[in-house]
Amino acid sequence: MIDRLAAIVGPAHCLTAAADLAPYLVEERGLYRGAAQAVVRPASTAEVAAVVRLCAEAGLAVVPQGGNTGLCGGGVPPEHGRAVVVSTARLDRIRALDAVNFTLTAEAGCVLANVQEAAAAAGVLFPLSLGAEGSCRIGGNLSTNAGGTAVLRYGNARDLVLGLEAVLPDGSVWNGLRALRKDNTGYDLKHLFLGAEGTLGIITAAVLKLFPQPRECATALIALPDPAAAVEILARARTASGDAVTACELIPRIGVALGLAHLPDLRDPFATPHPWLLLLELSSSRPGGLRETLETVLADAVDAGLAADAVLAESEAQRRALWRLREGVPEAQKKEGGSIKHDVAVPVSRVPEFLARATPAVEAALPGVRVVAFGHIGDGNIHFNLTQPPGADRQDFLDQWERMNRIVHDIVADLSGSVSAEHGIGRLKIAEMARYKDPVELDLMRRIKTALDPRGIMNPGKILP
Ligand code: ZN
Repeated sequence: MIDRLAAIVGPAHCLTAAADLAPYLVEERGLYRGAAQAVVRPASTAEVAAVVRLCAEAGLAVVPQGGNTGLCGGGVPPEHGRAVVVSTARLDRIRALDAVNFTLTAEAGCVLANVQEAAAAAGVLFPLSLGAEGSCRIGGNLSTNAGGTAVLRYGNARDLVLGLEAVLPDGSVWNGLRALRKDNTGYDLKHLFLGAEGTLGIITAAVLKLFPQPRECATALIALPDPAAAVEILARARTASGDAVTACELIPRIGVALGLAHLPDLRDPFATPHPWLLLLELSSSRPGGLRETLETVLADAVDAGLAADAVLAESEAQRRALWRLREGVPEAQKKEGGSIKHDVAVPVSRVPEFLARATPAVEAALPGVRVVAFGHIGDGNIHFNLTQPPGADRQDFLDQWERMNRIVHDIVADLSGSVSAEHGIGRLKIAEMARYKDPVELDLMRRIKTALDPRGIMNPGKILP
């Protein structure tokens, strides 16, 4: 089997030594550690197809892996080891860029930052942007339907795809690489693979949507009395700017405090501490007037008692410094001990209600716990992370993971929300998803899985209970 795999991808790209396999068998947080017969690094769609066909014949599981930056264990092979990890790292060509059609065709292993750069070099924008963009790969972004910081304006990864090429569980290749804005010819099959986390096939290439490059950007950090003010200011800013709001990120006081304590390069631009901050960014491909619009929105917000104070970035360096406050939250939280995470979404208008219910509920259930609720409030997506009480035992605290999940996710369900907004299901959230998803919907998912992958070889043990 190993010889046959090596014959397909070349001996140098069929890894079997323990030390070579190690980085592919564990995910970033160390929550899961799997095993595999081999890691193969095919260089073409045809090689991926040949590898999958061989694994299908041998009854070996196929585990696709991109940059291995996922947060739910979706890219880790199962412990039993009867699996082959298929790394997309060498599928890294930009196949085409059509600036008039505003499309770019990229292979699955392209690092997200490289896709962004290829677009920028042609004077256009690929807007998907997230913390791991320097190492995550576009195939993984699409397979997990990644979110990030520009969803409010441009949508999730799923919304940025026009066409797809995928290797199916029997080794056949579906070429759906159409660069069409309109294609009303039956089932939209690409959406089956987007967000499927490799359980229905391996995405090998995609036609991605591009956008005009922003020529002007206005960024403000706004001090707020409460999260209700944030959603009100967002609605006002969307209306006043002709929907030019690109990012809207909520930062709690404790997020700033942890950042100041742990990250030497971080500065709080306000002289006094405020309970909440909102990072609001507007951008437009038509220069002129954006800053004035933002100033008017902020002045009106102060007059209406929605904002206590605000600063506007005067330079790109200041803009980066404001973003640093937001990006520093998860970084600083990591240094503060154990963290129980929730990646939840509710309707934007109901985020304040969610926070008002979930915060006291977890504080009552686990005295001393520190709620660090931050993130993409413009998408209704809050990273409702719980930091351990100061001085508590890390493991004792992490043992409360499921109990805290139940409290938070019950409130999310009550608000018609989602228990996984942008991180996917992987292994981590299978039971949580099954608990809250409509049984008819779950059954449909199972029937699709069975129809496409009757032998269950594609990334088994992920998503579906
Ligand atoms: Zn996020």
